[in-house]
Amino acid sequence: MSVDWCHREPEFAALTRWINDTLINVYTSTGHDFESVILTGSGTAAVEAMLATFAPDKAKTLVVANGVYGERMARILNAHGKPHTVVSSNAIEPMDFAAVRSSLADDKSIRYVATVHHETTTGRLNDVEKLAAICRDADVQLLVDAVSSFGAEAIEAESWNIAALAATANKCLHGIPGLSFVLARSELWNKNTMDAGSVYLDLRSYYASQHGGGYSPYTQSVQAAFALREALLEFAEGGGWVERRNGYRARAATIHAAMQNSGVQALLPAEDCSCVLRSYRLPEGVSYQELHDELKSNGYVIYAGQGELASSIFRIANMGDIRPSELDDFGTIVTSFFKSKHT
Ligand SMILES: *Cc1c(COP(=O)(O)O)cnc(C)c1O
Repeated sequence: MSVDWCHREPEFAALTRWINDTLINVYTSTGHDFESVILTGSGTAAVEAMLATFAPDKAKTLVVANGVYGERMARILNAHGKPHTVVSSNAIEPMDFAAVRSSLADDKSIRYVATVHHETTTGRLNDVEKLAAICRDADVQLLVDAVSSFGAEAIEAESWNIAALAATANKCLHGIPGLSFVLARSELWNKNTMDAGSVYLDLRSYYASQHGGGYSPYTQSVQAAFALREALLEFAEGGGWVERRNGYRARAATIHAAMQNSGVQALLPAEDCSCVLRSYRLPEGVSYQELHDELKSNGYVIYAGQGELASSIFRIANMGDIRPSELDDFGTIVTSFFKSKHT
């Protein structure tokens, strides 16, 4: 990351092409029909850019939300003045498939369904396969927020009828914050139909320059691109997304066992959870802040709940460079913390 390259030189253009090419090959299902662009900004920038560029101005997008990130997609469409409707369910519930089915049957102006693959609000891995089957019957494609699943969960872009997905360098790929990316079908990139309603987030301008040489319209986070290169090399050496998922699953199971030993209840059944993050109910008489502070003073950072779950749950993510011994220590610390609360 201390290498100092100018983003307008051919070396950086080559790195941009390499990153885009490597990203579409993380999954075999995106290797043929999809092309990637990178942009500077966090995951939300990629989600917003995807919706600004591809959600239609004249036809509707149906947002299927069961948490903060799904609701955020609706806020983005609203901010861009794009016609949309929302099927919302409570954050602890699965997506409302019956409502999706009837919305698609009733409203033929819906062209895309926008949704979140792994809803990080709770740790639920949404059943995008089931959603996609409903959408396919209505001939509607998906725009997916895959920010916290890309690189660690299965993504079947072909059979799930995905038109585009957005993700980031700094979650399951283990890069650093600052770069995000959107993968979309070539036919979408090449269909220049719409004004994105944004200058910086108009991904077609990125597509034109990154795929016409490798340059970008605006300054990229050069150092974050170097970090992403290393992260992607490490990812491939480690066996790609399947091995990352296996590793995360083992970590999540270790954390889960420590919680069970402490008498702490999981928010969702294990089979509904991603391998990336799980939520647990705060036991009575324990505040999030004291749990957070105790863990942080020992070198571990956890997250609070969001939205309506802000004061009732806490979340533990297991992405990144975590060693087995660190997880064992975490288990010991967390168990003794909760024991001290019972006595
Ligand atoms: C992290 C995350 C985002 C992006 O959040 P940023 O704060 O912009 O990085 C978007 N969607 C989901 C599902 C996420 O987990």
